[in-house]
This record gives sequence, C-alpha cells and structure tokens, in this order.
Amino acid sequence: GTGRRTLVAGNWKMNLNHLEAIALVQKIAFDLKPVELDNAEVVVLPPFTDLRSVQTLVDGDRLAIGYGAQDLSPHSSGAHTGDISGPLLARLGCSYVVVGHSERRADHHEDDALVAAKARAAYAHGITPILCVGEPEPVRVAGDHVAYVLAQLDGSLDGITLEQARTLVVAYEPVWAIGTGRTASAHDAQEICAAIRGRLAERFDAGVAAVIRILYGGSVKGSNAAELFTQPDVDGGLVGGASLDAVDFAAIVRSA
Ligand code: PEP
Repeated sequence: GTGRRTLVAGNWKMNLNHLEAIALVQKIAFDLKPVELDNAEVVVLPPFTDLRSVQTLVDGDRLAIGYGAQDLSPHSSGAHTGDISGPLLARLGCSYVVVGHSERRADHHEDDALVAAKARAAYAHGITPILCVGEPEPVRVAGDHVAYVLAQLDGSLDGITLEQARTLVVAYEPVWAIGTGRTASAHDAQEICAAIRGRLAERFDAGVAAVIRILYGGSVKGSNAAELFTQPDVDGGLVGGASLDAVDFAAIVRSA
C-alpha cells in the first residue's frame, strides 16, 4: 500500500508449547536484520498463556517486534469465567488484539455486534484491534463477496469513532483461503481491500481511510507475499500457518 507502513502479523492460533514460543520469537528476531525490521512492522500473536514470556523477551532484549492477543472479552472485568479482558492484555503490554477471526466467528458463534463490542473494548484500553472480515466459499462462488464483506465490516465497526478508526487495522481473510493453501489472487485481494477502503472513506472520511492499514490473510507464505503486498490497497498480511516457521515468516517480512 502507498504511504502506509507494512504490517506483518503472525497469528499462532492454538499452537506451540512454551519453549517453542520463546524459541520462535528469538529466531524471528535473529533472522531479521534491523533494516528489515524497520521496513515493516512485525507483530506476533501468541496464545494468551505465552504473552508474559513474549513480553519478557521483547522488553528484556528490546526487540523491534510487537505482540498482541488473538481475542479479548467485550467486558473489562467481572464474572466472565475463562475470558481475558482488555485491561489484562494492556498490563501484559499488548499493542494489538485480533477481533472477529473467522475461527472465532465459527467456533464461538461470534456475530458482528459482539465483534464490534470487542473492538470498542480494545480501544477503551489502548489496544489496537485487528478486525477480521471475509466471505465463506459459497458466497464467493455466488459472486456476492464484496457486499458480504462490506456488510460484515459495517456491523463490526458499530460504535467505533473516527478518532479511533485512525489506528484501526482491518484484515481481509476469505474463509476458503485460511489454512487451505489456496491463496486469493493478488487481483482478488486488491479488489476487496480497495472496496473496504472505499467503505471506510464513506463511513469515516477519506483522510482516515488513507491511513488505515488493510491486511490480506489466507495462506500467505514467503513465495506469494511480495505479489500481494505490492497491491495498492494491501498493506501487509495476517499470517497463520507460515508464522510458525521463523524462516518462512522472515521471508514474508522481507517481501514488504
Ligand atoms: C489466519 O489464521 O489468520 C490465517 C490467515 O491462517 P493461514 O495463513 O494459515 O491461512
């Protein structure tokens, strides 16, 4: 994307043990040269249980890597057994939190209203949401993907102010491309990311839409990242599987 700093975020999902998590952050930091870490913003999104260790590594070694969580509660505290709040994540130094990932929408029946409440909770505690949207395969086959994604975007941004939106990150992740090895073509990714930016301009204003980073996610790897990232409205990637491999993840970062 033009003028926006490329963001490459690694969504580890529910993977790795404690030692592997530490080793992966160290490898990423060692593999990437300072200039490469300067060229793109690099973020890891470990399971909640590894956030403290990642925080210790990043702070202790002053690594130029950011980190965040994969989800948060819409509530800030209280009787919500098993949930993790924005204040808890803020205390762990999280800069980012994913909201509305398709796996959470599917596994936990999260709808757009809940996703919007989570995005508002993130902002309330100084954490930037990475808001995921994307169509399932039948919607794409029917040719309704643009309308579907824009409706999801609208619903998931309910109550977000123009000032908050300045730091927003949106991730376009077609469900049929996540974890399948089937990447959207650069042309298809650009089509939807441009439509998302257009809707953000209508909803907020053109200046805000011009600074919001829109990522593509869905089977991004070292071999396809460069073509995706050079699309004018694609400002980086949300990377699942390939983010667990330090070498491939570093190659994706170098594609920025
Ligand atoms: C994701 O989980 O956000 C994702 C894009 O996964 P993958 O890269 O494995 O398709």
